[in-house]
Amino acid sequence: MPENQKIKTQNFKAQDEAKIEQQFLEGKKDPDLGVYSEMFSAKSGFEGQDGGVVTALLVKGFEDGIFDAAVVVRRGEGYSAEAVTAANASEVLAASGTKYLRANVTQKLQELISQGKKRIAVVCTPCEAKAARKILQTLKGECEITVIGLFCFEAFNKAKLKEQVAARLGINLDKVEKTQIRQGKFTAFVDGKEYSCKVKDLDCAAEKACLYCDDFASRFADVSVGSVGSKTGFSTVVVRSRVGGELVRNFNVAKAMVDKAEVCRLSKFKLERAKKSSATLNTPK
Ligand SMILES: Cc1cc2nc3c(=O)[nH]c(=O)nc-3n(C[C@H](O)[C@H](O)[C@H](O)COP(=O)(O)OP(=O)(O)OC[C@H]3O[C@@H](n4cnc5c(N)ncnc54)[C@H](O)[C@@H]3O)c2cc1C
Repeated sequence: MPENQKIKTQNFKAQDEAKIEQQFLEGKKDPDLGVYSEMFSAKSGFEGQDGGVVTALLVKGFEDGIFDAAVVVRRGEGYSAEAVTAANASEVLAASGTKYLRANVTQKLQELISQGKKRIAVVCTPCEAKAARKILQTLKGECEITVIGLFCFEAFNKAKLKEQVAARLGINLDKVEKTQIRQGKFTAFVDGKEYSCKVKDLDCAAEKACLYCDDFASRFADVSVGSVGSKTGFSTVVVRSRVGGELVRNFNVAKAMVDKAEVCRLSKFKLERAKKSSATLNTPK
């Protein structure tokens, strides 16, 4: 790409993101974390991937009447990720836990909007959180969308992950009960046993588009949630808007110290990787 074209593209992206921040977010702007007003570590009474915080936020949102439909990601057959609608707390509970795969959350969100739903929550990775904001910008206030963004370094391609897990851990991914990524380690739980390898060794199974994504902490969400920055069994929560503030008000959770520096470190690391990937793409062969 010619240099002047590259500068134009970067300027457009920066303007675009500044507009989203101005329109939807509230708080101070941190260079690594984005706009936020509050950050804490929490554990809810629900079973979840980490602190069960996303599940608790969704249940609370239904109880408080903040939304009446939510897009969540359920495991289908084998190890899979299917974006579905939850209309109540029990459907939210059935979808708890992380599926480290890409799910078409945006398409499900658009379906709910076309069905005339007016107050929707969406749980999504950073790329889909930005897409949800773009959709909101076109709706001009006809519909309220609460965006619960997950921290995300990368999502995997199912077929490639299955292949790598079989080769490296000697297990069938479809039979796995839970997967967990923590402190650079990928762990699969099956039949009461744990099988682990370095996440780095699974890089070849990551979705290619993730290499170009520069957002780790879901900078455009109302509330972002992840495991980095919290001790085991807790989730890190970043509140980024008035809507997010309303959702965490009187939130019945146990709180703990959060390691903001660790979230910033991962955010910078992902940004640098995206820059390197883009530079390689733009270098003439
Ligand atoms: C692809 C992916 C990569 C991630 N990478 C990291 C990381 O590198 N570092 C980090 O700190 N955290 C990462 N996370 C987030 C982390 O795994 C937990 O989801 C988060 O800490 C919330 O935990 P919880 O116990 O509060 O969630 P829970 O209460 O268990 O709820 C999890 C929610 O996530 C939804 N969900 C599950 N899979 C997906 C999916 N594929 N797409 C969209 N929504 C989904 C479920 O429907 C559920 O509502 C990642 C998540 C995903 C989906």
